[in-house]
Amino acid sequence: MGYDSTIDCTPRPFGPEGRRLTRTVVVGGVKIGGGAPVVVQSMTNTDTADVASTARQVGELWRAGSEMVRITVNTPEAAAAVPRIAERLAMQGVEVPLIGDFHYNGHQLLTAEPACAEALAKYRINPGNVGFGKKKDSQFATLIELAARHGKPVRIGANWGSLDQALAKQLMDENATRAVPWDAGRVLREALIRSALDSAARAVELGLPAERIILSAKVSGVQELVAVYRELANRGDYALHLGLTEAGIGSKGIVASSAALAILMQEGIGDTIRISLTPEPGQSRSNEVIVAQELLQTMGLRAFTPMVTACPGCGRTTSTFFQELAQRVQEHVRARMPEWKITHPGAENLTLAVMGCVVNGPGESRHANIGISLPGTGEAPSAPVFEDGQKTVTLRGEGIAGEFIELIDAYVERHFGGARPA
Ligand code: SF4
Repeated sequence: MGYDSTIDCTPRPFGPEGRRLTRTVVVGGVKIGGGAPVVVQSMTNTDTADVASTARQVGELWRAGSEMVRITVNTPEAAAAVPRIAERLAMQGVEVPLIGDFHYNGHQLLTAEPACAEALAKYRINPGNVGFGKKKDSQFATLIELAARHGKPVRIGANWGSLDQALAKQLMDENATRAVPWDAGRVLREALIRSALDSAARAVELGLPAERIILSAKVSGVQELVAVYRELANRGDYALHLGLTEAGIGSKGIVASSAALAILMQEGIGDTIRISLTPEPGQSRSNEVIVAQELLQTMGLRAFTPMVTACPGCGRTTSTFFQELAQRVQEHVRARMPEWKITHPGAENLTLAVMGCVVNGPGESRHANIGISLPGTGEAPSAPVFEDGQKTVTLRGEGIAGEFIELIDAYVERHFGGARPA
């Protein structure tokens, strides 16, 4: 989709009321909407029928910080595997709500496998491909009735790539009768929004409480996503799941997702997010979870792990030592965080600085809870360390990295160690 000048991209002020208040939906014990913190979710890319590898990946995503994990349920074998995956996860102590992703045959799979319907914490259905022609309404009704019977919430997730074609055609026909017709892009965005809202209204008519409905309407363009979600937020109080669909690979996917989601969350829109990254070859699936957490944390919306401020380096840094130290420190605190979360709550708010020379090093380090200013080219081979604005020690020699990490651990122990269980 190209740039469309009719999209309203006017910046909205962050209102005094803060987050837009939506209905609260509880998914497997996790609160979504109603002012609850924005929830991070992700999705597996394993064959769900493969119980071992799917459970393993769900566990990895959970350990990385995913608070809900969606799995594809596309075949009878996959549906039969779901309760076994849930069992295996429970045995491993992995407590994460599983969301079933259904397309085309969800009504059949959930009917045939009640244990699957029960093991899932939420169903995601796409109104664009729940069924076609005359069967669409009855298959949608079956899915909603199953959700109501099992007491499960549903995400009604419209998607640009599988837009309800009958609805799109109807809106195109209506548009042709307008005195001043809308352009095609606006009509299609309206179709996406209507697909989500009309489906939600139908689900409520069928007996699913509005407090069990989450909406999404994903597109792959940043400006279009912002425009669509502003409309969705204006037209209802359903909890909203945000995500830029098919965001892409590497930095492009991260930048596009962050740009779109940051604008919306700054406006108080969005109750749960997913960063839909295409993993680079060999890259962990968990990367999308880390990006989602970093987006929320850098925006000041949530805290997950201590964050390292590091300068970019320049001609004053002639070695890669400071880059390596910044990376090592970030990896160290990320690795310690699962334990600190229990034994040292609050450590996730720690701020760290690793700076490359005397120009900005001491100043930035003073602003962090604990920071180090490494020597740049031509500077004395010493690295002053600052804790809460005060210089505490100067490190020298080969062991700077290890000693700085010990200082971080000691700081966490002193400031956040009071909650260690007996
Ligand atoms: S702090 Fe020093 S090394 Fe880092 S970017 Fe600034 S001038 Fe360069």
